[in-house]
Amino acid sequence: MVKKVDHIGIAVKNLDEALKFYQETLGLNLSGTEVVEQQKVKVAFLPIGDSEVELLESTEPDGPIAKYIEKKGEGIQHIAYRVDNIEEAIAEMKEKGVRMIDEKPRYGAGGAKIAFCHPKSTYGVLIELCQRD
Ligand code: ZN
Repeated sequence: MVKKVDHIGIAVKNLDEALKFYQETLGLNLSGTEVVEQQKVKVAFLPIGDSEVELLESTEPDGPIAKYIEKKGEGIQHIAYRVDNIEEAIAEMKEKGVRMIDEKPRYGAGGAKIAFCHPKSTYGVLIELCQRD
């Protein structure tokens, strides 16, 4: 059902500082940034091979990324798997008994269609299903 790791979402407190590490120490290239207002997050895209690292900084103190860092600290927040058809993938997950956070696709950074699965259904990992056209 899932095709590949689309990206890894990493929650950071300070995007500029984290970018220094990813660019200067790891040698990745920044391909762009985007603010996703609905999710109160600023995203930086760092392609690596056929996949991507996405650094996530909260734009508001009450945003989901800020809350995540408060609870768990900085680190890997979610893993996104590429699917061909997000509606079908959501239906299939539900059919297989996976609890979905998003029953309908929503807008994801970079113009993707995304839906999150509940970590209680996925061995503790926040899984994002991600379709790109
Ligand atoms: Zn993501």
